[in-house]
Amino acid sequence: MSSEDADFELLDSLQEAAGRLAREQLLPRYLARDREQRLDRVLMRQMGELGLLGVDLPEEYGGLGLGTLAGGMIGEALAYGDFNYGAYVCSTVSVLGRILADNAPPALVQEWLPGLVRGETIIGLGLTEPSGGSDAASLRTRAVRKGDRYVISGEKTSISMADQADGFIVFARTGTPQSRARGVSAFFVPAGTKGLSRTRFDDVGSHVVGRGSLFFDEVEVPEEHRIGDEGEGFRQVMAGFDFNRAAIGLECCGAARASLDETWGYINNRESFGVKLAQHQGVSFPLADGEARIEAIRQLCYRTMRLRDAGRPHTTEAAMCKLLAPRTAYEVIRQCLLSHGHYGYSTDSPHQQRMRDVMGLEIGDGTAQIMMMVIAREKTRALGH
Ligand SMILES: Cc1cc2nc3c(=O)[nH]c(=O)nc-3n(C[C@H](O)[C@H](O)[C@H](O)COP(=O)(O)OP(=O)(O)OC[C@H]3O[C@@H](n4cnc5c(N)ncnc54)[C@H](O)[C@@H]3O)c2cc1C
Repeated sequence: MSSEDADFELLDSLQEAAGRLAREQLLPRYLARDREQRLDRVLMRQMGELGLLGVDLPEEYGGLGLGTLAGGMIGEALAYGDFNYGAYVCSTVSVLGRILADNAPPALVQEWLPGLVRGETIIGLGLTEPSGGSDAASLRTRAVRKGDRYVISGEKTSISMADQADGFIVFARTGTPQSRARGVSAFFVPAGTKGLSRTRFDDVGSHVVGRGSLFFDEVEVPEEHRIGDEGEGFRQVMAGFDFNRAAIGLECCGAARASLDETWGYINNRESFGVKLAQHQGVSFPLADGEARIEAIRQLCYRTMRLRDAGRPHTTEAAMCKLLAPRTAYEVIRQCLLSHGHYGYSTDSPHQQRMRDVMGLEIGDGTAQIMMMVIAREKTRALGH
């Protein structure tokens, strides 16, 4: 068997394991976990044991080295059962794990990455600040060098898992305020570091993950905790975010897929005017339309990840995934909720929770406007402007 065939076989068995876990463990408790408001660390360790965390990360740190498309497919399969776990596995473990593996000093990677892949540790990303997130390069948090250490002061807000994570990749300015992206460096800050405090927000959705603020009151980290070169952190680390945009796309497709499947089942059982709901084109056509839109976006996400795995440019495609997927998933899931009539409007219905969960990623990791800016910039750049 060629190594490529072996990889396909491994991915097949992982997808099967992820699908089973999604159907048997995630989906039945999706609503209950919304109220628990925490990632379940036992479940995360189980995912680690099944090999579902960091399938695209290097084998030397516990990953399987399977490529980003494989990572995206696992995220999609898990999001079918619970959008939050799909997002955690793909947009946190894979994305932040890759940032560490590619840019952090080896000792730091060794200290944190294997635990992330085993499902024992949680890592968050601190970029957004109270003054703004879209213009991320204008951040104000400062890191001042003091001998062989950096002292970080400032505030990060809207940070996923702020109150749960064991450590954070944090962006801070090491250059002048005018230096924009060129003066930003990235650091790893363990959650227990003196001077770091955190809060939790009361959000619309994604309660399992949650968001909050991080306050840095002269937080000291050794220079070995710098990720990437000084002043280059923004550029180096942001290179991982094209993958995340396609990953978010697949996570949204997974959630929409679950609502569509449930709704086809429902309309094939319930009757009105003497026939199954499915026989009314007014009921089945909006779902058929949703099928087509979700499948088109799913294929765009796969294509984007294939381009990435082939080392080809994919920034435009990644922004398209992020522009279309959360919004379309929201619209399709909303249609599924409506197709359930009054039952859909209950908090016992998973559709309302999926709508709330996917809506967060219409904002998180860059809004639709920012994605359109990226697409327009890449298109005009290609014309030499
Ligand atoms: C669920 C969720 C999870 C998140 N997780 C994290 C995380 O883990 N770490 C982290 O660092 N951040 C995180 N964020 C923050 C997120 O990345 C920012 O909210 C996002 O980048 C937008 O920034 P902002 O909220 O400050 O909006 P602003 O930048 O203030 O923008 C407000 C509005 O104006 C629009 N706008 C801004 N500039 C322009 C322009 N030039 N042209 C047109 N329209 C414009 C925006 O599209 C938006 O609609 C998360 C957010 C959410 C909702």
